[in-house]
Amino acid sequence: MTRYSVFAVAREALRHHRGWTRGWESPAPRAAYDAIIVGAGGHGLATAYYLGKNHGIRNVAILEKGWLGGGNTGRNTTIIRSNYLQDPSAAIYEKSRSLYETLSQDLNYNVMFSPRGVMMLAQTEHEVRGYKRTAHANALQGVATEFITPERVKELCPIIEIRGPRYPVLGALWQPRGGTARHDAVAWGYARACSDMGMHVIQNCEVTAVRTENGRVTGVSTTKGEIATRKLGIVVAGHSGVMAERAGFRLPIESVALQALVSEPIKPCMDVVVMANTVHGYMSQSDKGEMVIGGGADGYNNYNQRGSFHHIEETVRALIETFPIISRLKMLRQWGGIVDMTGDRSPILSKTPVEGCFINCGWGTGGFKAIPGSGWAMAELMARGESPLAAEFGLDRFREGRFVDESVAAGVAH
Ligand SMILES: Cc1cc2nc3c(=O)[nH]c(=O)nc-3n(C[C@H](O)[C@H](O)[C@H](O)COP(=O)(O)OP(=O)(O)OC[C@H]3O[C@@H](n4cnc5c(N)ncnc54)[C@H](O)[C@@H]3O)c2cc1C
Repeated sequence: MTRYSVFAVAREALRHHRGWTRGWESPAPRAAYDAIIVGAGGHGLATAYYLGKNHGIRNVAILEKGWLGGGNTGRNTTIIRSNYLQDPSAAIYEKSRSLYETLSQDLNYNVMFSPRGVMMLAQTEHEVRGYKRTAHANALQGVATEFITPERVKELCPIIEIRGPRYPVLGALWQPRGGTARHDAVAWGYARACSDMGMHVIQNCEVTAVRTENGRVTGVSTTKGEIATRKLGIVVAGHSGVMAERAGFRLPIESVALQALVSEPIKPCMDVVVMANTVHGYMSQSDKGEMVIGGGADGYNNYNQRGSFHHIEETVRALIETFPIISRLKMLRQWGGIVDMTGDRSPILSKTPVEGCFINCGWGTGGFKAIPGSGWAMAELMARGESPLAAEFGLDRFREGRFVDESVAAGVAH
């Protein structure tokens, strides 16, 4: 490739990107659609995309009260992995991870999937036992993971202090094809593909009520007027409880702010993702060189979409034990997103008591990695009334006590 064409490609990419972030206008809503999705986060957009691509349902609107990907999708630390313990979880997360492998080609949009490998450090004997068990479960599920020694941890990530003062590294659960992707690009890529199929992605359009007749959905009231539909997908993460109330049912879910921060950019020093769940912090290095650091959730339910100061200290203090190299690093930005937590730390992909109304939520602290798989399953559920990937994640499980308990894999991990 000549020098000129490299610049031409770069210019084209920039023009393309601007088209989606600045100059793009939301279309005016039609009076009726075959299906409406509430929420233009990754899960809502992926649902719409697979409705069109896999099921030929294209007269679809995605209604977003803010801007595309402005919820958790654009606020997360982008870790992608599928090393969950329970079979239904491994199935949907591995489907998702495998879709990420070719997502850039499928959407013709570079989502910058980087399968650089994810390691979850074992820093107590309890974690060693737990992760070995998960590695065995993953082997049976066909998910490629292994339990590695502290020496191998050091080899893969030289900046780790494996003889840490409080919690030495005793090993790690390693998923070599886990990694990261560019979160905004995932939202933009799906949105552009939906738009190309003739779907309407409508921003600044809050759904304020769900209209029903004889227990069946007939449409929604929005800040841009009334819109009719017979199929409604609610995909609003932290606001799921609020939207369910507007549709007339209750959810077993809590909303809480989860925190993250990034440092000033530094030279490349770490080419894997590291999660340290005992001290509770996780870190990776972005393409710009910033250290992307994930912290904890607020200790009380709230809808504050912003960072809280005590988390900076707690998270950085914990990480410095494992990564002494970051002790003098300046932090640039801190933020929060409202995550939706279920009691068993597994998602809800389900029909609801309102006929024609479906819900996708409960991905909590770890739903970015699930976007393609969740969209795939939710679209199947909305189009056909059932989906093998979603079968164990129905609302009924809370009444019947069939929990998919992932509190170890997903309680604090992302
Ligand atoms: C700090 C942080 C770090 C995280 N790290 C990771 C990670 O490393 N890996 C991982 O896998 N996951 C991670 N997660 C979780 C992940 O971000 C979420 O699970 C996922 O993004 C949820 O996507 P979503 O599309 O369901 O929700 P969102 O992206 O939040 O989208 C929901 C949309 O619905 C809209 N909406 C709400 N109410 C209405 C209404 N009434 N009308 C119209 N629109 C409405 C909102 O404005 C929002 O845009 C993290 C989350 C946070 C906050």
